[in-house]
Amino acid sequence: MSANPKILDALVVGAGPAGIGTALALAAVENLTFGVLERGQIGQTFIDWPTAQTFLTPSFTGNGFGATDLNAVHPETSPAFSLGVDYPTGQQYAKYLRGVVKHFRVPVLDRTEVTAVTRKAEGFEIACPRGPVLARSLVWAGGEFHQPLDPRLSGSGLSDRAAAAAAWEPREDRSVVIGGYESGIDIACHHVEGGASVTVVDGATPWDAGAGSDPSFRLAPRSRARLARALSTGRLALVGAHASGIKREGTKWVVSLDNGSRLRVDSRPIVATGYGPGLGPVEHLFAPRSDGWPELDEDDQSTITPGLFLSGPAIRHGGLKFCFVYKFRQRFAHIARVIGERAGKDTGALDAWRAAGMLTDDLSCCGVECAC
Ligand SMILES: Cc1cc2nc3c(=O)[nH]c(=O)nc-3n(C[C@H](O)[C@H](O)[C@H](O)COP(=O)(O)OP(=O)(O)OC[C@H]3O[C@@H](n4cnc5c(N)ncnc54)[C@H](O)[C@@H]3O)c2cc1C
Repeated sequence: MSANPKILDALVVGAGPAGIGTALALAAVENLTFGVLERGQIGQTFIDWPTAQTFLTPSFTGNGFGATDLNAVHPETSPAFSLGVDYPTGQQYAKYLRGVVKHFRVPVLDRTEVTAVTRKAEGFEIACPRGPVLARSLVWAGGEFHQPLDPRLSGSGLSDRAAAAAAWEPREDRSVVIGGYESGIDIACHHVEGGASVTVVDGATPWDAGAGSDPSFRLAPRSRARLARALSTGRLALVGAHASGIKREGTKWVVSLDNGSRLRVDSRPIVATGYGPGLGPVEHLFAPRSDGWPELDEDDQSTITPGLFLSGPAIRHGGLKFCFVYKFRQRFAHIARVIGERAGKDTGALDAWRAAGMLTDDLSCCGVECAC
C-alpha cells in the first residue's frame, strides 16, 4: 500500500488480531482496495505483554471439523498448529500474526501512527507521519491495551499496573492486587506461585462462580483451577471490598478499603482494573453509550459517523461484550461485507467465513446460557 493521496475503499488502523482479521476478510471481497496502518510492529500489543502472561483462551486445531481454533483470525489458520502450544504467550501470538500477514500478503504499513482522522465528503482523511491517506471507509482496530482504566483511588501513582512488566517482578512477602477479574487473578496466582502472600480486593467479587455461562463475566476454567491451587497454599486471600486509597508509611504501602479496614503490604500494590475502549484519534467520531463504551449500529458502525467501523474487544451490543478473539472475529466478515457491498463489489467469497463458524450477523443468537 502506498500513502499517496489516491482514495482507498477501506483503511484499517491497527495490526493486532482485530485489524489483521478484518483486513483478511476485506481481502476476500473482489477487487477492493485497502490497507492497514500500524504504529508499532505487527502484533505490537502482544510483543508488549509481560513475558509471564499467556492467553487464557485455549488454542486447539479443530478447523477441519467446523470448530476453528478459538484464537485464529482466519478460517485456514490455527495458532495451536503453527506455534505448537495451546496457551500462547504474547511473543508467540505476535509470531502467529506475522506468519498470517506473510502467508496471505496482507498490506500492512508498520511504524506508521495515525494521529488524526477527519471526515470528508468522500470518506476520511487519515493523518500519519508519511502523509495523508484517503479512504471511503475506515475500520478502527486500535485495541484497548494502551488505555488501562484509572482505578479512581487516591495515591494510585504508588501502584503498578498489571499490564506493566514491573508488576510481574518477584514480590516481597505481602502483596495486594486491586481488581479481581481475569487480569487480577492471573497476576495474583503468578505471585503466589512465586512464594508471595497476596490479597486480592474487589467489591464486585468477580471470582464468584454465580455470574452465568458467558466467559466475559465468569473466570475461565483454567483461571478457576489456578485460583483453587493458589487458595490451597493459604497464601491467597480474596476480599470483597473496594480499595479507596494508597499511602506510603515508612518502607510499607497501606491500602484503605471501603469496609473500613487497612492492608499493610511490603511492595507496590498492583492495579488490575480493566481497560477502556482505546479510541484515540477517532474518539470524537463515536457517540458514547451511558456506560462509556462506543455506540454502534447493527453493522458495528459509528452511529454519528457513517463509514467508520469498530473492530475488536470494545464492541458492545446491549449487554453483549465481544472482548475475546473468538467473539470479535465473528464480525470481521460482516464488516467486510457491508464495506464491499457499498463499494459495489462481489462479497460472495465471505460465505466461507460463515461455513467456518467465523461470521455472526444475527446478534440475537449470541447470549450464552449453558444447560450444564
Ligand atoms: C491482559 C489481557 C489479556 C487478554 N487475554 C485474552 C485471551 O486470552 N484471549 C482473548 O481472546 N483475548 C484476550 N484479551 C483481549 C485482547 O484485548 C484481545 O484479544 C486483543 O489484544 C485485541 O485485539 P485488537 O487487535 O483489538 O487490539 P491489539 O492487539 O491491542 O492491537 C491494536 C493495534 O493497534 C495499534 N494502534 C493503536 N493505536 C494506533 C494508532 N493511532 N495508529 C496506528 N496503530 C495504532 C497498536 O499498536 C496495536 O498493534 C486480553 C486482553 C488483555 C489486556
